[in-house]
Amino acid sequence: MKARVLSGIQPTGSPHIGNYLGALKNWAKIQYDYDSIYCIVDLHAITLYQDPAGLRAKIEELAGMLLAVGIDPAHSSLIVQSSIPAHAELAWMLTCVTPVGWLERMTQYKMKAQAQETIGDGLLQYPVLMAADILLYQAAIVPVGDDQSQHLELARDIAQRFNSLYGDTFVMPATHLPTVGARVMGLDDPEKKMSKSATGSGHAISLLDPPNEIRKKIMRATTDSNPAVDFSTMGPGVRNLLAIFQAFTEWSDDRVRDHFTGMRYGDLKKQVADAVVAALEPIQKRYRDIMDETGYVARVLEEGAERVSPVANDTVRKVKRAMGLYTP
Ligand code: ATP
Ligand code: MG
Repeated sequence: MKARVLSGIQPTGSPHIGNYLGALKNWAKIQYDYDSIYCIVDLHAITLYQDPAGLRAKIEELAGMLLAVGIDPAHSSLIVQSSIPAHAELAWMLTCVTPVGWLERMTQYKMKAQAQETIGDGLLQYPVLMAADILLYQAAIVPVGDDQSQHLELARDIAQRFNSLYGDTFVMPATHLPTVGARVMGLDDPEKKMSKSATGSGHAISLLDPPNEIRKKIMRATTDSNPAVDFSTMGPGVRNLLAIFQAFTEWSDDRVRDHFTGMRYGDLKKQVADAVVAALEPIQKRYRDIMDETGYVARVLEEGAERVSPVANDTVRKVKRAMGLYTP
């Protein structure tokens, strides 16, 4: 039996090249080696207010994009979190074994809470829901970025506490995969990671940006005061552009260094833009084909939910029994 992998992405904003190079490209690659579940985490998205019509549309668009980047529904289960009630059900039971202090210590909570006038309880509980996502499928491997490693640690703590209170129920999620993807930084500010929720038109390259938009954003990207590429003194903006180029082309370090050393920034940017445009073109074409096929995405999501629901329901039944809840 293959080990189970689970990972998620929020249907907020538009997916960008950071999501692709840091997560989605890798999801498509590893899906043949694992029993993979990829989840559109809409219940996580609503921890901050989302426009209902916008959210509803983004869920299917994101599913279409996951298919376009190569998630193969014959090998992976593509699911929407809210369509499987067991996620929310298990989250409540886990909430009841989680000390509030554990949640208040989470860095992401502290950061996001600071930016809010009133803090929704969901923002605090978010890591418990994430623990439920993982434990529901007894996922052994959870590939997440560093921003999520504290939450993964917490999921292990919650599983352990549950097991010690109610007897062995959960498989401990082992580790995350070593980060193979690039961490892509904002084009306007290379000190900040590229984010869907960040504002600013020059910040991120969306996977659906047309070629002229991509070129414009890259030509305007922040660099440094050098005139040309110098590997010993370059700043984070130039490093980010080179990392994007390398992640898309999969050139070796040596080849990138030989090719770009001494190149003027204008030419560097043109070549980066060409590489990005060329890589996104087939993805955008597949996306359009997928979205043009009426009912296809909905069917994939329904099949995904049907495939994983028995596992999820089984876990909930086990947990209920362990806790003494009513299971007719
Ligand atoms: P949001 O701003 O709404 O949190 P996000 O861009 O951070 O959006 P998520 O849905 O939180 O995207 O994350 C989806 C996946 O993409 C995660 O695995 C995350 O680690 C990865 N990821 C997000 N941003 C980057 C980035 N700039 N570089 C590489 N990977 C990223
Ligand atoms: Mg994020």
